[in-house]
Amino acid sequence: MLPFSPPRLNIAQLPTPLRPLDRLSALYSGPRIWIKQDDLTGSALTGNKVRKLEFVVADALAEQCDTLVTCGGVQSNHCRATVLTGARFGLKVHLLLRGNKPNQSDGNLLLDELGGAEITFYDDDEYVRDFPAIAEHWLSHYKAQGKKPYFIPTGASNGVGLWGYLSAAEELKRDCEQAGFRPDAIVVATGSAGTQGGLTLGEYLLGSNVPVYGMAVCDSSAYFKGKVEEDISDWYRRWSGPVGLNKSLPALLGELNILTLDNYIGPGYAQGYPALYRCIKEVASREGVVLDPVYTGKAFYGMLEERQNGVFSRMDNIVFVHTGGVYGLFPQRAEFT
Ligand SMILES: *Cc1c(COP(=O)(O)O)cnc(C)c1O
Repeated sequence: MLPFSPPRLNIAQLPTPLRPLDRLSALYSGPRIWIKQDDLTGSALTGNKVRKLEFVVADALAEQCDTLVTCGGVQSNHCRATVLTGARFGLKVHLLLRGNKPNQSDGNLLLDELGGAEITFYDDDEYVRDFPAIAEHWLSHYKAQGKKPYFIPTGASNGVGLWGYLSAAEELKRDCEQAGFRPDAIVVATGSAGTQGGLTLGEYLLGSNVPVYGMAVCDSSAYFKGKVEEDISDWYRRWSGPVGLNKSLPALLGELNILTLDNYIGPGYAQGYPALYRCIKEVASREGVVLDPVYTGKAFYGMLEERQNGVFSRMDNIVFVHTGGVYGLFPQRAEFT
């Protein structure tokens, strides 16, 4: 058990189920696949972001903030989860979205609008070039109005959000003990690195040291190593004391095993490929598990490939953490017909 936890809201449906996917595992050679169903943390609040928001929005409330400002792609699961959490706690939410406003709102964007978010769209070039200035502009805007804004970075991945998957690592350890096995690997989609970082640090702090493989949906392995280290450094500055970690930051980072596979991204973030769409169909029809084409589908497809002939092929049990994302499926409906 971790000896300390910062303030936390109770909005995720926890613990989520862990179960084996035996029909799928039997199809090809390789280890038994287990799924940790963080797609069941809620309905509108499905997915991994709600675990992070339990800590991040608790922090915003502790600082008496009244407005959440956050950012992401037009179909961001994180933004949708933030909008609905904000609505639940009476906080205004302003989304800064990367991409142009589509003619028709679908998937997560539709839910953002239903949830009452204020939304500003920025085209790709402007977003990439000017994001820090854009965020600063809106934070100053709210302060000038006498409001107290709180900025949540992409994916709620920072030292506070990391707690979501530190605590999930504890939960998963208990699940596996109850099911009577020790996993040889944990596999998860990685985009802004907070889930991967939380699980990686969690395994280390719990002393179980199960290797955590981030399956990249954008960027490169080198990027993810840097980003995980950055978030863990932020976490360390805030909580190494209360947690009682008697180790320097460089020593901690030196001992962590940050593993990322970046060869299943395809053409780019949120852009799919035929083998990915086939895999999503197969997993839905054989196991009743719905993956999405932006995150979990790519991670699961990559895991199946590596399970047959790759880094997972000689293992006995691997746990896939299903991080949600079902609303990102609908805007890509044309790929399935
Ligand atoms: C955000 C997201 C991820 C990636 O999590 P990060 O912590 O941002 O790396 C994976 N799956 C889904 C469905 C997501 O929405």
